[in-house]
Amino acid sequence: MVFLNYLYFSKHLHILLAFPNTYYGKLRPKGQFENNDAVTKEVKLMMDPDADPFAAPTESETEEPPSKFGASDVQDLSWVNLLNAYTCTECGRCTSECPANQTGKKLSPRKIMMDTRDRLEEVGKNIDANKGIFVDDGKQLLNDYITKEELWACTTCNACVEACPVSIDPLNIIMEMRRYLVMEESAAPMELNNMMTNIENNGAPWPYNQMDRLNWKNE
Ligand code: SF4
Ligand code: SF4
Repeated sequence: MVFLNYLYFSKHLHILLAFPNTYYGKLRPKGQFENNDAVTKEVKLMMDPDADPFAAPTESETEEPPSKFGASDVQDLSWVNLLNAYTCTECGRCTSECPANQTGKKLSPRKIMMDTRDRLEEVGKNIDANKGIFVDDGKQLLNDYITKEELWACTTCNACVEACPVSIDPLNIIMEMRRYLVMEESAAPMELNNMMTNIENNGAPWPYNQMDRLNWKNE
């Protein structure tokens, strides 16, 4: 009984949290990402040749878009992300399976989870010290804990998610932070920006006119 009570306050809390964390683990196919509704609507409108840009918005279209896209700090992450951070046992299986880590990149999915937990604890202490209100401490998860270099090293292969014995999803945190970089700061690497511009203009990642796409068959 003493040990059970000790678990709650100790670094072994992850033993207890493993159960709810596994229960709330993602059941969707691993490669399926959550689309942002506001962006999906914009893209559909852009790609629909019959769409009338001056039509009166329907009731669902008048909804306010989110005030912030993606995540730059722990407050922007979902409660499942935060539960994941507290559940991590730091076993390192995710990092040993990570192809980015294996090829010498700076990324370690284990560190992503530990950084998230460390920042969460820092924010918690800040709130406790300021009588229930978070006072800006000039820090955030992005840059102060997790660097852009780590975020862009990820290949989104899901190997870390598959390797985790307690259904933790480090990739979801990485993708939310990348979403923030792209949509709030326009800070994607140049290669990605070129590709996204090509998709927008040509419907393909290459810098060729759509009319020339079948030219290869004439060669
Ligand atoms: S999804 Fe990203 S962090 Fe996870 S194993 Fe693949 S490259 Fe590594
Ligand atoms: S495999 Fe899971 S529990 Fe182990 S370090 Fe990675 S995220 Fe944490």
